[in-house]
Amino acid sequence: MQVFHTGAEWQKNWLHALQTKKSIGFVPTMGALHEGHLDLIRASKKSTDLTVVSIFVNPIQFNNSEDFEKYPVLTDQDLSLLEKENVDFVFLPSVESIYPQKPTLSFDFGKLETVLEGAFRPGHFSGVGIIVSKLFNIIRPHQSFFGQKDLQQIAVIKRLVADLSFPIEIMVVPTRRETDGLALSSRNMRLSQNEREKALILFNSLSFAKNELLKGEKWLEIRNQITQAFEAEPLAKLEYFELVDPESFHVYSEFDPTKNSSICVASYIGNIRLIDNLPIIP
Ligand code: AMP
Repeated sequence: MQVFHTGAEWQKNWLHALQTKKSIGFVPTMGALHEGHLDLIRASKKSTDLTVVSIFVNPIQFNNSEDFEKYPVLTDQDLSLLEKENVDFVFLPSVESIYPQKPTLSFDFGKLETVLEGAFRPGHFSGVGIIVSKLFNIIRPHQSFFGQKDLQQIAVIKRLVADLSFPIEIMVVPTRRETDGLALSSRNMRLSQNEREKALILFNSLSFAKNELLKGEKWLEIRNQITQAFEAEPLAKLEYFELVDPESFHVYSEFDPTKNSSICVASYIGNIRLIDNLPIIP
């Protein structure tokens, strides 16, 4: 496994030699790796000749400074996990090499900025758009792998790739969960034992809502019940619980079984903000 720290290193030593002969799969991460990240890596290894993983906690996508400062950094542990997965290359850039100066450019993803994550995390998707564009330009992969866990991020990345004509195929990998249903997240390690138990309210609400929808119950009534359940949990602070089109992120007020739809949730549990989603397949 080769570790490199700058784009110049990658391009000089590896990219030009490999690009025409091998397919390159790329998995961008912020580290503190878990089985969800490893699923992306395994998907990349299956589908491409060489896998590059990046670990970079991107300061400009955090709209909450405490979330950034407390984001777990476990580089040694991450590198040994990546070694075990037989990853070919790891990109570990410094903040200074990625941002020699503060970017002047920003992205506006239109409607995607006005709902759910876009509405609750102003500037977040612009920061994601900038780092992903930089990483795509540095690594120049053929395919890049993203988790369904961050559903709205996938919609943003697909727009980015379409609008800027990146010659990269975006591959989506299903959400990896704990056995009780909690979606794996690097932020879960910041939950206390009590908060960890309470965090199950996200997955339980999604599963309950999905079952009720499929039984024919009305969406707005289901959402009402869920909102009340969150209000009754002192450790939880619900930001949104919405039924959406997973591509446009149009927010539905009723369920139409002929249309693609997903339920998305964001809630604080204590001081930790968690998100999750479930596709509805009737
Ligand atoms: P992060 O390190 O949180 O920025 O995540 C890096 C990538 O891993 C993103 O594409 C995420 O969507 C994906 N990811 C995070 N958690 C999971 C999970 N539980 N299952 C599958 N993919 C995930």
